[in-house]
Amino acid sequence: MAVKFKRGFWILLILVLAGGLGFVYFNFVDKQKPVIEIYPETAFTNGAEPFELRIHDPGLGLRRVEISVVQGQEVLKTVRENFDPGVHDWKTRLNLPDLSQGEFELRVLAVDRSILNWGRGNVSHLSRQMTFDNVPPSISLATHVHNLNQGGAGLVIYTVSKEVEKTGVRLGGYFFPAYQKTDGRYYCLFSFAYDIAPGDETPRILARDMAGNEQTSGFNHHVNSRSFRQADLNISDGFLHSQMPQFENNFSGVSDPFELFLKVNRDLRKQNRASIMEISSRTSSAFTLEGTMKRKPSAFMAGYADHRSYYYQGEEVDQQVHLGVDLASTAQAPVPAAERGKVVFSGDLGIYGQTVILDHGLGLQTLYAHLSSIEVSKGQDVERGQQLGRTGTTGLAVGDHLHFEVLVSGISVNPAEWWDGNWLENNIFSKLRSMN
Ligand SMILES: [Zn+2]
Repeated sequence: MAVKFKRGFWILLILVLAGGLGFVYFNFVDKQKPVIEIYPETAFTNGAEPFELRIHDPGLGLRRVEISVVQGQEVLKTVRENFDPGVHDWKTRLNLPDLSQGEFELRVLAVDRSILNWGRGNVSHLSRQMTFDNVPPSISLATHVHNLNQGGAGLVIYTVSKEVEKTGVRLGGYFFPAYQKTDGRYYCLFSFAYDIAPGDETPRILARDMAGNEQTSGFNHHVNSRSFRQADLNISDGFLHSQMPQFENNFSGVSDPFELFLKVNRDLRKQNRASIMEISSRTSSAFTLEGTMKRKPSAFMAGYADHRSYYYQGEEVDQQVHLGVDLASTAQAPVPAAERGKVVFSGDLGIYGQTVILDHGLGLQTLYAHLSSIEVSKGQDVERGQQLGRTGTTGLAVGDHLHFEVLVSGISVNPAEWWDGNWLENNIFSKLRSMN
């Protein structure tokens, strides 16, 4: 009897101990360390924006966090936080103390409530080496004369005193990136865009360094204002019936050809311009233009930046700007490359139909639209005058013609300048030569 009682006692004791250990294990022991994140994930800062620290403990919760900012041997700032049970997530915004220019370290230590490690818990350390820099870059101009036409292009060349994250010319809402060449200088082709009235906006060079410090610089320039043609276009039912079916897949549910025309002329046009802007980043820092651009022998049907009013059944129904020139000769005429370049786009481009875009470097590109056939493919290098395809009526075209554009960082500019040897010599080639 006594033996049985004794055995029962021991069994009970073992069960209680095991249960207790289980209770302790599940409630006070975890092996997962706290996770520390610091945003933004930058190595350079000017201290203008606070850092955001996010600390997460996937196990039993946080016990303690310690943040310090160290420069050289000196601890310049310390933040300590102790937590009550049950806190799994904590975040804070950390403003930097006064720092000297140069390297510093951000150290974070986070401890959880686990009783592992003799009660000390799981400990996470994060140390990030960063550079404090609040001195903006300085910009020195290498070109001093910039004669511009509204809707035309210009070239400015300059140096920046330090490594930059972004630089180029800003004009109103437009930004034209500059490209650094092996001589260290930045070369920026930009446009005084057709839709900005001279006097309303001034072009400025912008340079932003790795720590976010910005510098802007004006430059000597003169802009000639231009007036653009007004043109009226009649939309016939014949046009709607021949050209609209190709767009039915773009706007499913719109069956009325006139309604579809408005969607295409407004919404699809916008989408296509956004694609052209995106394609402009596929450019090389090597400039391949050697002389005037080759122009397909043909007659002008429509000019650059014509302001078009669209009429249907005698009523004005839409207005758009024609961002290019229309060149017509015979149907399915050969289309030569305006200059040596690389094919960066080849295929269907909505209202532009079958389209080829060539890159000539520094953001300069040429676009050939409404083609009936394409004879080059993306990635291919082409020579000046090489046949890219044949003219046609694909896309939103009235009659067989070539729609041709010269683009500067995705913005359509007046092609006439690029066909003009004097303009090119004075505004582009003489500047490039003077840098050698
Ligand atoms: Zn056109």
